[in-house]
Amino acid sequence: MKMRDFKGLFKKSTATIDWIENPIDDLHVIHMSFPDKLTWEAGEHGVFTLPDNKVSGKPFRAFSVASIPEEGKMIIATDANKPTSSFKSTLFNLSRGDTVTVRGPFGWFKVQDKTSPIVMISTGIGITPMRALVKQLEKDQSRPIYLVYASPSGYLFKDLFDDVALHNPSFKPVYTSNKEDTIKAYTHMAQLFENSAYYYISGKSETIKATKKELKQTGIKRKRMITDPYFGY
Ligand SMILES: Cc1cc2nc3c(=O)[nH]c(=O)nc-3n(C[C@H](O)[C@H](O)[C@H](O)COP(=O)(O)OP(=O)(O)OC[C@H]3O[C@@H](n4cnc5c(N)ncnc54)[C@H](O)[C@@H]3O)c2cc1C
Repeated sequence: MKMRDFKGLFKKSTATIDWIENPIDDLHVIHMSFPDKLTWEAGEHGVFTLPDNKVSGKPFRAFSVASIPEEGKMIIATDANKPTSSFKSTLFNLSRGDTVTVRGPFGWFKVQDKTSPIVMISTGIGITPMRALVKQLEKDQSRPIYLVYASPSGYLFKDLFDDVALHNPSFKPVYTSNKEDTIKAYTHMAQLFENSAYYYISGKSETIKATKKELKQTGIKRKRMITDPYFGY
């Protein structure tokens, strides 16, 4: 992490709700309009508050932005994580036109260079920043780009990933549903690319820790692993 990764923390903007969907189990996707002056880089996250609503407990949550500015909408996604917090219950009940305040976006979970192969490893709701990275890289056919997406139930944004794979032969999503297959998939890639690739890992903190340990055992250096731990789960 570098100082410049936190630069956006001092930006504060107001976004408005367009629509909220609940496509799979407890997963909710929130689509928002954002002001013209607001921009961000793929992989960054914002700190969100709900200014017109009373929330009990912590009044803010960090969420990765799943879209890129060029799409003309800001998307975040989250798990209801039962028992659902007052913040999330309030968020899920917002209507079109309601306002949300966002600090940032900012962060360090970004594409590191233009040449290294990319291996993205995400578990569950950790898929959110990967969607933004895939959108940024959707036309990049100059290097292998793999996405290992582990989920015990459905796969969020699968239509988009499959569509990008259809048009870009360099991009390959691999969907797994258990720990064994997930480890097998990314260790295979680690053996293939070794330290020439960057490994982007996002999800709950303990899953990231375990993934880093596995990669380290395969010989991957810490500096080739870029992580986005979802503290708070
Ligand atoms: C850089 C970054 C990016 C992130 N991006 C995302 C993202 O894209 N999507 C996302 O979903 N999250 C993301 N997070 C995590 C997010 O900020 C929240 O911390 C997380 O979603 C949990 O929020 P919550 O309101 O469900 O739980 P909280 O209210 O914050 O509670 C924390 C934990 O305590 C448990 N808990 C709370 N109340 C009770 C109770 N009464 N009884 C038993 N257990 C209880 C909850 O189940 C939860 O596991 C990110 C975090 C970081 C740091």
